[in-house]
Formats: sequence, C-alpha cells, structure tokens
Amino acid sequence: MNYKKMDQSDFSYLKSLVGNEQIRIHNEIEKDFSHDELGTVFGFPEAHVTVIEKSHIQAIMKYAYQENIPVTVRGSGTGLVGACVPLYGGILLDTSKMNRIIELDKTNLTLRVEPGVLLLDIYECVEKEGLFYAPDPGEKTATIGGNISTNAGGMRAVKYGVTRDWVRGLEVITPDGELITLGGKVVKNSTGYALKDLIIGSEGTLGIIVEATLKLIPKPKKTISLLVPFKNREDAISAAPRLIMDHVIPTAVEFLEKQSLQYSEEFLGKKIPHNNFEAYLLISYDGNNEQAIQEDIEIASSLCVNQYNAIDVFLVDTEERRTSVWNVRGGFLEAIKSSTSEIDECDVVLPRSNIGAFLEYVRELSQTLDIRIPYFGHVGDGNLHIYFCKDDLTDDMWKEKVNKGFSLMYDKAFTYGGLVSGEHGIGFAKREYMVKLLGKKQLEMMKGIKKTFDPKNILNPGKVV
Ligand SMILES: Cc1cc2nc3c(=O)[nH]c(=O)nc-3n(C[C@H](O)[C@H](O)[C@H](O)COP(=O)(O)OP(=O)(O)OC[C@H]3O[C@@H](n4cnc5c(N)ncnc54)[C@H](O)[C@@H]3O)c2cc1C
Repeated sequence: MNYKKMDQSDFSYLKSLVGNEQIRIHNEIEKDFSHDELGTVFGFPEAHVTVIEKSHIQAIMKYAYQENIPVTVRGSGTGLVGACVPLYGGILLDTSKMNRIIELDKTNLTLRVEPGVLLLDIYECVEKEGLFYAPDPGEKTATIGGNISTNAGGMRAVKYGVTRDWVRGLEVITPDGELITLGGKVVKNSTGYALKDLIIGSEGTLGIIVEATLKLIPKPKKTISLLVPFKNREDAISAAPRLIMDHVIPTAVEFLEKQSLQYSEEFLGKKIPHNNFEAYLLISYDGNNEQAIQEDIEIASSLCVNQYNAIDVFLVDTEERRTSVWNVRGGFLEAIKSSTSEIDECDVVLPRSNIGAFLEYVRELSQTLDIRIPYFGHVGDGNLHIYFCKDDLTDDMWKEKVNKGFSLMYDKAFTYGGLVSGEHGIGFAKREYMVKLLGKKQLEMMKGIKKTFDPKNILNPGKVV
C-alpha cells in the first residue's frame, strides 16, 4: 500500500478547509489518539482533524482520494479491536464533535443524529419524552457513529436486538467524497441491495457516517431485575436458554461469576447485596403492565428455584439496588483491566446451548497455559467476553500464550458453531481468526465489496479484510 506521505502542502490545504484549531500534526498529536481501549494496537496519524461539517468531510475525502492519503475515522476511541487506529498514518478524521441531535420525530418515532452524539445523550434526549432507544452497549460514552460502525450489541440484545435493528437510515460520505442517503424514516425497505446494512458493522472501511436516523419505541413503563444465585456455574449457564424457552423473552440475561464480581466490587469500592454465591444470572423483564410483569417475575422465580436449581431469587426493584447491581455488572471490563498490566479480549458468540461446554474448555486452557482468564457474558444471546491477563509474564511469554491460547480458543468455538465477534467487531486484532473461520470464498466476496466502495483502499486500510 503505497500511500502519499503527508507534507506541508497537505496540512495547509486541510487548515484552509477547517481552520488551524481543528488540526494537530505529527508530535502535536496526543498519544490517546494512537490507540483505542484495547490498548494493544498502536499507530499515529500524520494529521488529527476534528470535523464538524459534512461539506468539510466531503472536501477532505475528495482531496485524500486524489492524493492517495489514508483516512481513518474515530469516534470516542472506546473500541476493543483496534479498529479506529490509523495503521498507515495519514488523516485521523475525528467525528466526536459532530454531536448535534437534529430532529426527534414523534410521529414516525425516529431520531436524527450526527455521528458524534454519545449514547448517553441519546437516552437522555428520548427518555424524557417517554421514548426508548433499546440498544444498551456497556460503554455509554461511545458515539453513535462508532456503535453503528461496529454494530454494537449490549445487554438488551436478547429481547430488542442490536444496533443494526435500530438504524432506519444513514447519510454516508464515500471514500471519493460523494454524499449518499441510504434508507430513511421508513419502517420497511426492499429497495435493492441493503447498502445501509453493509455500512452498519463495516468498522469505517466502506464509508463515513455523517448522519443516522434511529428507530424509537415508546419507553416500557416498568423494568424489574432479578439476581439469581446458583450453587455452581453449570447450573447458572444451563438455566439461561431454558428460561428463554420456557417463558416470555427477558430483556437481559447476564452471567456473573464470583471472581469477576469480586474484581468489580474491589474496583468500584462497592458491594452488591447477596454477593457470596458461586454464580449468578442477572435477569430483567420490562413492559407496560405492572401486574403482567409481576406475573412474569413470579413465574421466572418459580422456574429458577423449582426447575433450574437456583438457590434463591433476589428482587432488584429499588433504585438503590438496581444502581448497585447493574453498576457492578457494568464495571467488569474496567475492573479486569485494572487488575493487570495488559489484557487481550475475545468477544466470541456461540449458540446458547454450547456456552457451558465452551467455558469448561476455557477454564482448562487457563490451567494448561497457566494464565489468568476471567470472563463474563451476555448468556441470553450467547456472547461471551473472555480476557487473557498478562500479570507478571514477560512480553515474549505473553505474546506466545495469547497467540496459542486465542488460536485454540477460537478453533474450539468454531467447532461449537461459534463466530469470532458478537459485538466488538474485527478491526485489526481479530482479522486472522475471521479469515480462518470464513475461508477464501467469503473473504474474496468481502474484498470485492470493499473494492466497490473504496477502490483505492484509502479508508481505514488494514482493517477487517
Ligand atoms: C467499558 C467498555 C464496555 C463496552 N461494552 C460494550 C458492549 O456492551 N457492547 C458493545 O458492542 N461494545 C462495547 N464496548 C466497545 C465499544 O464501546 C464499542 O465498540 C463502540 O461501538 C465504539 O464506539 P466509539 O465511538 O468509541 O468508536 P471508535 O472506537 O472510535 O471506533 C470504532 C470503529 O467505528 C468506526 N467509526 C467511528 N465513527 C465512525 C463514523 N462516523 N463513520 C464511519 N466509521 C466510524 C471507526 O473507524 C472504528 O472502525 C465497550 C467498551 C468499553 C471500553
């Protein structure tokens, strides 16, 4: 990939477009912009450009396309696969300040936003109007552009689906600077190939999202969670698919183990009630009819205790309990990260029925490789987050164990019908495993798609395909 090295004339052109204040070059660029939250993939851009206008992005892309300069888009940089890291230098196009909420349309139940709007601002905007945007990824300071580009999931996916299911329309700037509109406010769309859905999850390799139209629904009036302790992890894990099959679909079903719970409690300096059991399911139900939810809770509780070997069922129904329990669950990743010098992450997704056997294998691997591997998971949708911790390993040993361990772990997952990523994407870090799983034909098809969108391969090169 023979890209142009940026020089003074390029920087001057960019400054003439967006102003001096919006650009940092070479050693003015802060280290934070050379990596994401994974922290193992690094690369500095030659220019960090903060954009706020679509027309500026169009002009930048026309220029970059003509001059053969690579461009990598960055939202909040909370990704976990190195996807927003500019591996080949060039321009880091920062869309985090394009953060205007454009229109809340209560008739069509849609929200039009710029890509830099944070997830937490979307919730705040719509929930005070009695509306609901359901995707619930753990990191609320991620941008919606980043969420769409990674097809982010989250805890409510079991009932409400993932980000893709909540995007009705997109405005996208192509690598050669054209602005195209995909979908819109419509509920249905069978108009040709689903280009919108190709952009969703494409990790900034096909186009730059400059506006999104999100789907909303009326906010469920009531949510109740249950904290259900089990004697062992096997009982907890096997209860999840049974609960989903035997009764109404819960909003979320999370699996917690004593060890991850302790990391998070120590990290946050807060304890949850009833924290002395081996394994738990954290289950929630939502709806509009209080009585119906109470009935759901009673049925679910009775199934858990009488049929799935749960020890007890604790109601998480007050604001204080809800905050305490869900904060501790939300703190797992940060807690695991802070417990060691470096982590690597596996975001595998499996058929729900195979989670127990797969985790058994991960524990064996932890012993064979003599490495600490904490994990937790959205067991309701089969998505596990598994962390290799460096602790006091040397750099060489760490690399060796991660390479060997990840290779074995993914091979095993594939035999159980698993896929490389449930929600964090492929980026740079998971490419070799995706290639291994999908094989030559699918990879060729993906490369063909990339070539159609980006014939000069200037948009986020080195990622996904
Ligand atoms: C504590 C923690 C918890 C997390 N929990 C979850 C979770 O539950 N579920 C989940 O799915 N993820 C989770 N994540 C991962 C992360 O938050 C998501 O991947 C998120 O979608 C990234 O958004 P971002 O704005 O930080 O994007 P970035 O990391 O900046 O970028 C991610 C990708 O999106 C592309 N991109 C960003 N903006 C645009 C745009 N405007 N146009 C085109 N491409 C763009 C980038 O090029 C890159 O490929 C978690 C991360 C952390 C640190």
